[in-house]
Parts: sequence; C-alpha cells; structure tokens
Amino acid sequence: MAEIKRVAVVGAGTMGNGIAHVFARSGFPVVLAEADQAALDRGLDTVEKNLAREVAKGKLAQADADSARARITGTLERTALGGCDLVVEAATERFAIKQSLFQELDSLLGAEAILASNTSSISITKLAATTKRPDRVIGMHFFNPVPVMQLIEVIRGLQTSQATFETVKALSERLGKTPVEVNDAAGFVSNRVLMPLLNEAMFAVMEGVATPEAVDKVFQLGMAHPMGPLTLADFIGLDVCLDIMRVLEEGLGDPKYRPCPLLVRMVDAGWRGRKSGKGFFEYPQK
Ligand code: NAD
Repeated sequence: MAEIKRVAVVGAGTMGNGIAHVFARSGFPVVLAEADQAALDRGLDTVEKNLAREVAKGKLAQADADSARARITGTLERTALGGCDLVVEAATERFAIKQSLFQELDSLLGAEAILASNTSSISITKLAATTKRPDRVIGMHFFNPVPVMQLIEVIRGLQTSQATFETVKALSERLGKTPVEVNDAAGFVSNRVLMPLLNEAMFAVMEGVATPEAVDKVFQLGMAHPMGPLTLADFIGLDVCLDIMRVLEEGLGDPKYRPCPLLVRMVDAGWRGRKSGKGFFEYPQK
C-alpha cells in the first residue's frame, strides 16, 4: 500500500473545493489546481466560508479551521502538482477534458502516484487506458456537499490494482468517510439507481399523474426521503441529470434509461434547476 502524504485536487468548482476541504481538514497538504483564476478564487472563498460554518456550528475549533485553510495552496500552474502522491481530478464532466488532464498528469507525476477521478459517469477503465499507469487509476466518487456527505463510491476500473484500491480505501477512511467498493459500469451504483428514479418522477409529472409538489410529498412523507426527487433533480442540475441519463442509455444499451422528454424540453429552455433560478420549482436569484 502506497503512503499518501501530499494531495492535489484539480478543479475548484462545486466538488473540487469540497474535496480540498476534507483532505486539508484531515491534515493533508493540498494543492488546488484550476484552469481559471476566478474559479480558483471562488473555490478558495467557498472553502473559507464552509470552514467558518463548521466553526460556528461547533464542529471544528477555530485553530483547526485556520490550519486546514493554511494547508491549501491554490495554483493555475500544472507543474505545481509534480510532487503529489495522489491527484483527485474534479474538473468539468467531459471526457476530452479529463483525458488530456490524465495524460498531462501521467507524464508529470512520480511513477508511484495514484490518479483518481471524481467523475459521476465517465468510464474509469477508459480513462485509465489513456495513461501509462492504468493500474494506478481509480474512481473516488464523492457526494455533494462533500464536507457533509459520508459516502465515497470507490470505483475499480478493469485495470485498477488491488494495492491502489487498498490505498484509496484506507485513505477514504482517514478522511472520516465510508468507502463503498463498486466496479466500473455506467452510472456506478449511485446514479444508475438514483437517476431512473428522478427520471420516472418527471414522467409522472409529464403524464399529469401528479404535480411536482405532490410527487415530492409522496417521497418525503411516504419513504422518509429528506428531499423529494424533483427538488433533488433541481439541486443536482437538470442539465447534469440529462447528461447522466444519456450516459446510462448509451452505456447500458437499455431503452428503460430513455431521458424523460419533459427533462429534455426543460434543459432546452435553459431551465437547469436551482442554479438557473427555475426547474421543477422556482428559485429567486439573490
Ligand atoms: P463545476 O463546473 O462546479 O467545476 C468544475 C471546475 O473544473 C471548474 O471550476 C473549471 O474551471 C475546472 N476545470 C475545467 N477544466 C479544467 C482543467 N483542465 N484544469 C483545471 N480545472 C479545470 O463541476 P462540479 O460539479 O464540481 O463537477 C466536477 C466533477 O465532479 C465532474 O466530473 C462531476 O461529474 C463530478 N461530480 C459532481 C457532483 C455534483 O453534485 N456536482 C457530484 C459527484 C461528482
């Protein structure tokens, strides 16, 4: 099992800043790399706000929050990642972006370093095959919001070695998370099961079976879900839901994963959920 001392996170967006936050809170020096200065500034700002929230809630001492923040170094320079033992890639969900990042990191990092991706749907096996270290490529699928959610789906590509898996499993536990082992297949377990539920809730609305409010109430009160499926879809982003349904449809080849036509129309209209101010529900923009 390799020892992980120094970590890098690529992408400081919704997921990347949360991933940097949990590594730094667990004592790891973290290099947070971005392609865009404004996104890096926003990411570092979010880490500070989220650490302050944990202090306000009494979950973290001020001194620990300060030292966690001090462990994170932001950069736009990819060469700053050279000495890292593990890189968690949390860049935009496009295969071409991840492939070029993986190839660049592969040539930059030491031979023993592990390359992990936080992808929600892209094949780890396919990403691994673009590198010269396919046995050291793995999926670390965190959940939003990262500092709060307990699960890490640890995705084994076809080529991932047992040693890489064991290292990442132990590391996930050091972060205070619970790793669950999953093999590489479209949508892994989480999105393969969750997305068809959200999609079916959209069909129920489209076919006039019930209003969005009623569908959500059924799940909150009848199944004790903290959030109804349509509120959750708005939170995830309707564009993201559509992308994942398409990955499931293509990757698993079963028409049961057909995206709901109402979802397609809403995304065409620019109704992407909470982030756009409108989805199945309205979100007044601040
Ligand atoms: P996001 O759009 O909020 O952030 C992505 C960031 O990556 C952006 O800030 C962008 O500037 C940066 N980026 C793009 N190309 C880059 C490059 N070449 N080098 C460095 N930075 C680059 O996206 P997100 O929601 O944080 O998603 C990131 C990854 O996490 C995706 O693979 C997504 O599927 C996955 N994921 C997202 C969620 C979620 O709920 N949002 C949950 C689990 C996994």
